[in-house]
Amino acid sequence: MSEKANVVVVGGGPAGMTAASRVKRFRPDWRVVVFERSRYVSYAPCGIPYFLGGLAKSIEELVHYPVRVFTEERGIEVHTEAEVVEAGEGYVRARFKDGTERTYEWDKLLIATGARPRIPRIPGTELKGVLTLRTLESAEEAKRTLSQAERVAVVGAGYIGLELADNLVRIGKKVILIELLPHVMPTLDYDMTALVENELVRNGVELHLNETVKEATGNGKVEKIVTDKGEYRVDAVFFATGVAPETALAEMLGVKKGITGAVSVDASMSTNKEGVYAAGDVAETVNLVTGKPDWFPLAPVANKMGYVAGASLAGFKETFPGAVGTAITKVFGLEVGRTGLTEERAVKEGFKPVSATITANTRASYYPGSTRMTVKLIADGSTGQLLGAQVVGADGVLARINALSVLVAKRATVREAFFSDLAYAPPFAPVWDPVIVAARVLLGKLAQS
Ligand code: NAD
Repeated sequence: MSEKANVVVVGGGPAGMTAASRVKRFRPDWRVVVFERSRYVSYAPCGIPYFLGGLAKSIEELVHYPVRVFTEERGIEVHTEAEVVEAGEGYVRARFKDGTERTYEWDKLLIATGARPRIPRIPGTELKGVLTLRTLESAEEAKRTLSQAERVAVVGAGYIGLELADNLVRIGKKVILIELLPHVMPTLDYDMTALVENELVRNGVELHLNETVKEATGNGKVEKIVTDKGEYRVDAVFFATGVAPETALAEMLGVKKGITGAVSVDASMSTNKEGVYAAGDVAETVNLVTGKPDWFPLAPVANKMGYVAGASLAGFKETFPGAVGTAITKVFGLEVGRTGLTEERAVKEGFKPVSATITANTRASYYPGSTRMTVKLIADGSTGQLLGAQVVGADGVLARINALSVLVAKRATVREAFFSDLAYAPPFAPVWDPVIVAARVLLGKLAQS
């Protein structure tokens, strides 16, 4: 005997739960069933480094809403520790914690399976003390391991690697950060990453760039990390080497993937299969600068995709316009923001980029707390369109990168950026905001190009 649901959602992360909640709001009478492999729904994996650094005291603080809110207040049927093991036309088969399995027929299905860590295929990754972060359970395991560790290697200097390095230093660990590329943060241009690298070194992180990890060794538990350049004694190793879309369910259903490897969807979040939708880190979207499909595994994008998918599943018209890859992070005393294309990517996309980088005060120079901020703007030499921006400074980065994100997404020109009506008062900005100064310098360069 199989059960019947109007909507089945696979994946209880922010995208899945936002969608499920919205369907119930539009269609209170529908049976909406969510299957989630882990113990938690509506979790925020972005908080894990801060949990390890002691800023969030318990794992529960990383959960936006407890399951009870979804089941009791919103009328959603939520199954945690329940994995979908089989799926086909109009049905899924779920395996529950007690080992039993049940089939559910659906009218509409949402794939919200997220992304999984991508770790290099090298010997020793199965050793105790070798960790990846994605689920809240993995954070609990990491916290236990760290309580016994002094020297910790972090492999990969992207967002998670840098946030980990910062938080591990905060709790007194010796951090060895190993990155394959010649610079940290591949989502920034090299000239900007130097600022981040100096900050890491200044705060005692042992930074190894251009280094390939070959092996983790140890007797049952990791004791050493071996690279092409050396060997380091460690008590724990984190792999923060990127993520890949979790497309196993999509493959079972024969759903089409796009050029990025994530599930291809239209603006309503519908896949090529009738009644099957995808949202969150598993799905690709349109890059608003290039107009091409792109993949942005970032929480704000995932949540909004869930919002759109919820309306679509309920039979209403809603569209997700695309994104520009805006992100911000904090590395010790530096805030690092980016949006749109890097200069390097702009070249690959066929633009003829012209860029300007300036350093300016963040507030009126006499006002206490004014610090220096570096802003890089990238524009297309032939049209003057703003293609991307990067901002690094001790504070005030969020406001600048958010303004730039909107300008980039709206395909504004550098001239429009220069004339944008940004707010000013001495405690917040100089009268010529660093963004406007950068736009002015870039306008001058464009005039000469
Ligand atoms: P990432 O893609 O940001 O960084 C991965 C890094 O690992 C890159 O620098 C890459 O060059 C390096 N790398 C890859 N293979 C390696 C190897 N074998 N040895 C050494 N280095 C290697 O990925 P992440 O840090 O794992 O984060 C996962 C996802 O979560 C990202 O897509 C990111 O966008 C998102 N995230 C965002 C934020 C934020 O916006 N603040 C925070 C956390 C995570």
